[in-house]
Amino acid sequence: MIWSATVLTLFPEMFPGPLGHSLLGKALDKRLWSLELRDIRDHGLGKHRSVDDTPAGGGPGMVMRADVAAAAIDAVERAARPLIYLSPRGAPLTQARVKALAAGPGAVLLCGRFEGLDERVIQARAIEEISIGDFVLAGGEIAAMALIEAAVRLLPGVLGDEASTQDESFAAGLLEYPQFTRPQMFEGAPLPDVLTSGNHSEISKWRLAQAQSLTKARRPDLWTLYEKNKP
Ligand code: SAH
Repeated sequence: MIWSATVLTLFPEMFPGPLGHSLLGKALDKRLWSLELRDIRDHGLGKHRSVDDTPAGGGPGMVMRADVAAAAIDAVERAARPLIYLSPRGAPLTQARVKALAAGPGAVLLCGRFEGLDERVIQARAIEEISIGDFVLAGGEIAAMALIEAAVRLLPGVLGDEASTQDESFAAGLLEYPQFTRPQMFEGAPLPDVLTSGNHSEISKWRLAQAQSLTKARRPDLWTLYEKNKP
């Protein structure tokens, strides 16, 4: 069974978009993962296939109808896949959640538009809400793509070098150490000596120290967790 994403959206033509390029795109062609699109409008009501209506209680904008969203959800063969609504009110997406998703069978992702989704369908279908950050997008599609990309790159065989996901940001609760490559001298800045020393244990020590000071300076929230979890 390959890892499979089903995306429910009003804009299926936005996909695969960036997911069809580079290593993820190649992996999609090689069927290392699969992507299925469902057009929510197929479940729209009336001649105009209407999917939204004005907010109960008043206010600006439109709200996606619970009955339409439920019909779109119920038409998907979900099996054991988690059902997720991309939403700024959701739990912030973390690398730990991404790893857990990548280890599972895939995900069914519902993309909102307008002012969001009628609350009752979130309750009735026990939908998990996930946010990709404390900012507001116009729709859930880019958020769904971000989640899929983060999960799929962890699947075996997708990235060329499997080791490249071991060391990176968040893997050990730290931001990644800074990276360098040629040339030896860039606008007066040389490569750090230790990186050209060939001394691998010194290099590891230096990288850990860099990762620690970077995390401490930039992400006190992660640093506090890291210190607490240190054995
Ligand atoms: N009125 C809503 C925002 C609606 S934005 C509120 O204030 O909470 C329209 C759609 O964009 C949402 O239904 C959701 O699917 C998507 N979206 C917006 N910001 C997001 C974020 N940070 N993470 C994930 N999805 C988001």
